Parts: sequence; structure tokens; C-alpha cells
Amino acid sequence: MTARIRKLPAQVVDRIAAGEVVERPASVVKELVENSLDAGAQRIDLDVREGGRDLISIRDDGIGMGAQDLALAFVSHATSKLAEVGDLEHIASFGFRGEALASIGAVADCRIVSRERGAAAGHEIESRGGTVGEVTAAGAPQGTRIEVRNLFRYVPARRKFLRTAGTEMSHVTATLQKLALANPDVAFSLQRAGRAVFRVSAGEDRRARIARFFGRQLFAQLLPLCASSGAASVEGFVARPEAARATAAHLHFFLNGRPIRDRALSHAARHAYEGLLTRGRHPVVFLFLEIDPSLVDVNVHPAKSEVRFQDGEAVHRLVREAVREALLGDELAPSIVPDEARGGAAGVDGDAASDTYSAGVKDALSEFLRGHAEPPPNESLFRRGAGDAGGAASRIAADDAAARLPAPASGAPPPRAVGRFLQVRDTFLVFEVEDGLAIVDQHALHERIRLEEIKRRVAEGGLEVQPLLVPALVEMPAAEIEALLAESEALERLGVRLARFGETTVAVHALPSMLSRRDPETVVRGLAERVLAGKGAGSRLSLLDDLMHSMACRSAIMAGDVVTEEQAAELMRRADLIDNPQSCAHGRPTSLRVSFKELLRHFKR
Ligand code: ADP
Ligand code: MG
Repeated sequence: MTARIRKLPAQVVDRIAAGEVVERPASVVKELVENSLDAGAQRIDLDVREGGRDLISIRDDGIGMGAQDLALAFVSHATSKLAEVGDLEHIASFGFRGEALASIGAVADCRIVSRERGAAAGHEIESRGGTVGEVTAAGAPQGTRIEVRNLFRYVPARRKFLRTAGTEMSHVTATLQKLALANPDVAFSLQRAGRAVFRVSAGEDRRARIARFFGRQLFAQLLPLCASSGAASVEGFVARPEAARATAAHLHFFLNGRPIRDRALSHAARHAYEGLLTRGRHPVVFLFLEIDPSLVDVNVHPAKSEVRFQDGEAVHRLVREAVREALLGDELAPSIVPDEARGGAAGVDGDAASDTYSAGVKDALSEFLRGHAEPPPNESLFRRGAGDAGGAASRIAADDAAARLPAPASGAPPPRAVGRFLQVRDTFLVFEVEDGLAIVDQHALHERIRLEEIKRRVAEGGLEVQPLLVPALVEMPAAEIEALLAESEALERLGVRLARFGETTVAVHALPSMLSRRDPETVVRGLAERVLAGKGAGSRLSLLDDLMHSMACRSAIMAGDVVTEEQAAELMRRADLIDNPQSCAHGRPTSLRVSFKELLRHFKR
């Protein structure tokens, strides 16, 4: 019998990994900028063309790389940072460590030119779709320049999914601005095809950067706050309720110098605004948290943008109370702004009216700063984290749909139609959206959102695993066991750990937490079925896809579930996060949009 299973060439593996890990130009930018920061750069300059699809070019003045470093730069799992991890048991979850440059080099034409600090000359190396060239001598200033051209050229399917240059550019801009807020001691600049988008100097602190990035109008509505409790402190700004936005895109959180996303923190902030915002409006906050690194897992998410707090409740309380105090300190009328008062608000929403920074702004800014005199922020509180590998590692936090979305209140049924949301037959949700209305299939959309999350986490090796204290033993035909074990790599990535226990028995050692409430036997039989069904026909990748789909489906809100307003808002918010909210995991559409124009036409107005 000839072997049918062959090891994939490393190049192909890297492309697959990158296709899943490097989502879009903004994720490339994030990885490159973090590398520059890790290299101790004081200034980072970025030039982006066509939203990053043609070129992402970054230059830093960090420690640089010597010829030997360069030779390894595009090799996956090569890193200078692993020693910092310290704790061996945590290494397993650093799925993405040392993989950024390899992944990027596998899917684009990349060139690194670098001169190590103190070295007389520089060197360069190229990787074109994973074909890595020789290190050669090159003239270069101290520091590193990396050019990423033709992103996803070697993964055309992936390239097709890039949005317009404008959309990608806005993600790049937002990503760089967040990093610039997190690292006020570093100078940053962004250019679009050689023309300045923004530039901040090392002397411009966080306030000045917020004003520059988000406009004077918003800046004037910010209230400072500062609070601490135990090993945690929070400092930053929250906007008066009038500055609320139509999306949750302006809940900005930073932890120990890193931009993070965190549902619990978002919830805490929202909670503090309770009674001050009308439905469907989202607060604007910039909160910088400092927490003893031993009390927080910053590596839950390999992109380091999600965290897990040891004492989540205390952090929630700290943020909630600090924000509330800042708002009440401003002597706000504690009443809901009546809807009529906001008439036409959508048109003048700050989201659209983003100011550009001009000369006159500087005056207004200093005036504002005088008016809000407070002790200067303790900059030592906002040092950048120890680097890529800083902090403890951990798996993704519990990830059950039910746990992540607030449960519907039991007892009294929730109001059926409040403000701008309506649930129809416990199946569809109707929302007002920017250009009209959207009718959403609650299950299809949630499933789609779950799938995106699962994919992202699987790509990053971070799906939370629930080990079974006592392995569950499942009887099944030997052939099925063989088929399952042959796919153990794919299963492992999904958090399913199996081992042969006997000729016709398999032991289940761990399941993804998302499915941990289900009977292991049912889960494993279901998996075996899918593995057998996919055999021969599809590749390993499509099996993984298939399994991810079924996991998404089973962990999503079902038709027939009553959806609370909070859940609905959450659905809409998270729909914004995914690439393609228009089609569900099974190819069914997730929503139907009717534009205001169409309504007008229909009613002959
Ligand atoms: P990681 O950051 O997880 O180590 P990367 O693939 O992002 O993995 O980078 C690989 C290695 O290349 C880093 O560990 C670092 O030694 C080096 N490196 C990358 N970018 C830079 C840079 N801008 N300056 C200096 N060294 C860098
Ligand atoms: Mg890196």
C-alpha cells in the first residue's frame, strides 16, 4: 500500500496558517508595529498604498537585526522572545509566537532591510510567497525597514476578500492610532502613498493624541478620570453622553500599555452610562488600565487583544464606578435624553463628523487642558508591556454562547419593541440601521459571528479546552477510530483531544469548552460521522471548516430563543466585526436590508 498522507511542504503550511492568521492589512500593521516596539523603537513610520494591498512599508529606529537574525526572520517559530516566557507550561498557547514574519512572508512579497545597533553595515533579505532568498549586504540606517508588497498575492482566494482600499485603510489607521495611544513615548507617522495621514511626535501625550485622532469636537466632551483599587488602576477619559455614537467602535481600552478588546470592560462602561444614554447609543471612552501582570492573562488571544482577569468582578467594579463618578461629577442631568431631542441626530453623528486637526484646534486644546487641570498622568503607570511574550499565557476564556450573551430575564417577558429594535416570532430581529432598516435572522447571524470567532481562535491556536477529569470512553468501530485519530491534528486544533483506549474504544480527554456541556459521546460520534463523510472528498482544511461550522451552529442562539435588547444590540455590534455578515455559515443570508430610499420609493414619497 502506498502512503496517501504526505507532509505538506512548509511553504504551503505557512500559507494556510497565514491565510487564517493574517486577516487583512491592519493585522499585518499590528504585528509589524509590535515588533518595532519590541525592538525598542522611538519612532515608527508607516506608508501604506491601496489600503495595504499594494504596499505596507514600515521603518523603525529600533535595535535592528544582524545577518544571522535576518536569516531566521522568515522562519516560522523563530523568535528572539521566547526566553521571556519563563514559564514553560505556558508555551503551548503561544500559537502565533515567532510566526508573524513567516506568515506574512508566505503570502506576500516581503523585504527586510536592517542594520543592527552598533553595526557598521546593514543587510537585507526577501521572501516571495515563502521563497526566502539569501541575506545580502545593504546600505541602511540603524533600525529596520520592512516592505510588504502584494499582500495575499500567493493566496488569491484570500486577496479577493480584501475590502476596498478605503475600508482597509480605515482599519489600518484605527489600528495604528490605537497603538499610538498605547505608546505615548514613541513617535508615529502614517502616510497614504507618500502623503501624510497623521504624525505624532514623542512629546505629544495621550490627550493630544486623542484630540488629534478623534477631533476637537469629541475631545471637548471628554471628562478625565482616575481611580484605583488594590492592584488595579484606571485612568483616562469618558465622553459626555451627548457624544455617544451609533456604534460601539469607540470603547477604547488599554491594559498595561496594550490595546485590548474586552466584553466585560465594555459592559462595565455601558453600565456606568445607564440612564444617561438612549437605546442604541454607545458611549465613547478611552480607558487605560494598569493591573499587576500576574493578575491578568494577556495572552488569551495570540494577537494579544483579549485578556482574562483573575478578579474580573473587581475590575468590572473599578471601571464601572470610576466612569460613573466621572459622569456624575460632571453634574449631568440623570435623565434619558428624549428621542425627540435627538431628532435628526443620525445626520450629525460624530461618527461621520470626524474633525481633522487644524491650527485652530491647538488653541482650543490648550484652553481645554487649562480648564481641566488635574495632576499630570503618572506616566510610569503607562509603560509599555514587557513585550510580545510578557505576562502569563492562557487559553481563550469560557466561550459559551449563553455565557457570552446576557441571558434573557426570566419571568416577565421582555418588551417586544423598544426604541429601534423589534423581535418577530422569536426568530427575526428588525433594526434601524444607518441607511434604512435591517431584518436579521437571529440564528443565522449569530452562527456566522460564532464561526468567525471560532475560525480566528482556531487559527491562533487559542480555542479554550476543557480537560475531562475522568476521560470519557466511547465504543466505536475500529475503522471509525482510525479515521478519527488520523485527523487528530485538526481535532486538536478545535480542542478535541482523543486517544486510543482499546481496539474499539476511544478515550476523550478534552473537549472545547464551547461544547463542554454536551455529552462527550454524542460529540465524538458526531465528529466521527463528519470525518467519515468528508473522507476522500475534501481536504483536511475543509474538514476543519466543516467541524467549525457545526460547532458554530450548536453554540449559537436558536430560532425560538427570546432575544433581549442587550443581546440584540450585541448581535448588531458583533455583526460589524465580521467580514461578511451578509451570508450565514450555511450560505443562507443573515439579513435583509431595506434602504430608506426604497421605503420612500415604495410609499411614493
Ligand atoms: P515574534 O515577534 O513572536 O518573535 P515575529 O515573526 O513577529 O515573531 O518576529 C520574529 C523575530 O524577528 C522577532 O523575535 C525579532 O527578533 C525579529 N524582529 C522582527 N521585527 C523586528 C524589528 N522591527 N526590529 C528588530 N527585530 C525584529
Ligand atoms: Mg511579532
